[in-house]
Amino acid sequence: MKSAPFEHHEPETVDEAVSLLESLDDPTILAGGQSLVPMLRFRLANPDVVVDINGVDSLDYLREEDGHLRLGALARHADVEDSALIDEKYGSFADAAPLVADPQIRNRGTVVGSVAQADPKGDWGSILLAHEGDVIATGPDGDRAIPADEFFLLPYDTTLGEQELITEIRVPAPEANEGSAYHKLKRKTGDYAMAGVGVRLVFDDGVIESAGIGMTAVDITNARATDAEEHLEGERPSPDLFAKAGELAAEQSNPESDEHGGADYKERMVDVLTQRALGDAAERAGTVTVERRVTQ
Ligand SMILES: Cc1cc2nc3c(=O)[nH]c(=O)nc-3n(C[C@H](O)[C@H](O)[C@H](O)COP(=O)(O)OP(=O)(O)OC[C@H]3O[C@@H](n4cnc5c(N)ncnc54)[C@H](O)[C@@H]3O)c2cc1C
Repeated sequence: MKSAPFEHHEPETVDEAVSLLESLDDPTILAGGQSLVPMLRFRLANPDVVVDINGVDSLDYLREEDGHLRLGALARHADVEDSALIDEKYGSFADAAPLVADPQIRNRGTVVGSVAQADPKGDWGSILLAHEGDVIATGPDGDRAIPADEFFLLPYDTTLGEQELITEIRVPAPEANEGSAYHKLKRKTGDYAMAGVGVRLVFDDGVIESAGIGMTAVDITNARATDAEEHLEGERPSPDLFAKAGELAAEQSNPESDEHGGADYKERMVDVLTQRALGDAAERAGTVTVERRVTQ
């Protein structure tokens, strides 16, 4: 099936894009098209007007600046996968990028588009939550930073305003004793996650000062495992500590049974993935190696 006809606008600057969003009637933003185009083709989305941001060159960046990792709205999954900066300093991003969909989708799809799509099975929302990052929304009144915790409302529904464009997502640059990781279970290459867990740990003198855990595909949105985070903070890493954190994350998850697995199985996977991601994050922080109860 082909999409229904629509008006196509190609702004070249953020200002132009925002003016179009303000003046047009119910416009839809097009970035990498890897979620939107299939919906157009199946006529699950039937916009009259599309604002295609691929010509806004100023949004094509991935860089560290002012104490943050910043990804512009045109940074593709493959840009993250290929980045030396990411390899060197951002373990969770480096883990997740090659696990998103397949190479064709990664070449075109954007990280920001995935966050905007707010699919609970999307990987980047969990990483944004684990890192306590922000979504930068630009609209007629300028920029505002939406904390990741306040962004996801329901499947495919966020707190982004109708006349706003996400220009950037950002996470704090890693501190000296920080490590992060992402573990994902999927049936085969190209699939979305059955379950995924992103972790960020910051240590102070061997003690976990701050813990962030984001979960994928096991609730109605990407969700934080706050009970597990609280359990970890102020403690020294150990197999018992990580096992309890895994258990708490699993208890806080709300997966649904489907053709790929039952809810009980997915909860068990959250437990396992959390423990694995905690182990990697602790190791990458350079402070400790925690004996693995759950192996790779
Ligand atoms: C077969 C398949 C497998 C996939 N597997 C995974 C996976 O494993 N993990 C994963 O995370 N994703 C997966 N995806 C989704 C993929 O990552 C998409 O690239 C992503 O969801 C959307 O990014 P996009 O740039 O393609 O956005 P588009 O398809 O262009 O847009 C998606 C939505 O976001 C909105 N949007 C896009 N950019 C902005 C912006 N800057 N501001 C405001 N709104 C915006 C659009 O209006 C639209 O509603 C998969 C997709 C497919 C088709």
